[in-house]
Amino acid sequence: LVQTRDFNLLVDTCVGNDKPRKITANQALNTEFLHDLAATGCDREAINYVVCTHLHVDHVGWNTMKVGDTWQPSFPNARYLLGREEYQYWSKSESEDQISVIEDSVTPIFEAGLVDLVETDHRISDEVQLIPTAGHTPGHVSVAIESKGEKALITGDMMHHPCQIARPHWTVSFDEDQEAATRCRQNVLKELADTPTLVIGTHFATPTAGKVVSDEDSYRFDF
Ligand SMILES: [Zn+2]
Repeated sequence: LVQTRDFNLLVDTCVGNDKPRKITANQALNTEFLHDLAATGCDREAINYVVCTHLHVDHVGWNTMKVGDTWQPSFPNARYLLGREEYQYWSKSESEDQISVIEDSVTPIFEAGLVDLVETDHRISDEVQLIPTAGHTPGHVSVAIESKGEKALITGDMMHHPCQIARPHWTVSFDEDQEAATRCRQNVLKELADTPTLVIGTHFATPTAGKVVSDEDSYRFDF
């Protein structure tokens, strides 16, 4: 959840409830996600923007919620910003898993008229901008935040674990284009190294956020 003076932005919406998926051993989750969100003082109606860094199953789930037998937008007052290229790629996918992800977590927000298809360098405000980080998926983006002279970057799945900061060539099987993903990590890490930018790793375990610093011929993550 990113809160600015003008809007509330949610970056990536996890797996969602009531959606049996391969990654949840085909069991539907039943978590307190929306309750926990509301407990921050920002309930689902107060979300102004939702960004999906990419359209994998664990980044779009709470785009929708089950109401009766239908999938309804969880954030009815939000504009959902989806990458044009990313959507074009996955909407043509013939993978059964991906088809059901699009069906229950993406199509309903289109039908509700809440989607803006955006480019990979889309600027949301003077403080928040998408940054193209293709490789993990063809239209993958990270989210750059700048406020009062400080900078942060929400990685999305450009990296999955801090070990990839030291070894950027280590890929995960989910990287659609492993070479492009490696190149992307190398480029981004080079730019981030030894700067005060706070790197917020979407899949990193707690403490999640840190700085990239040079370490011999590579880098390390400093918490
Ligand atoms: Zn992913």
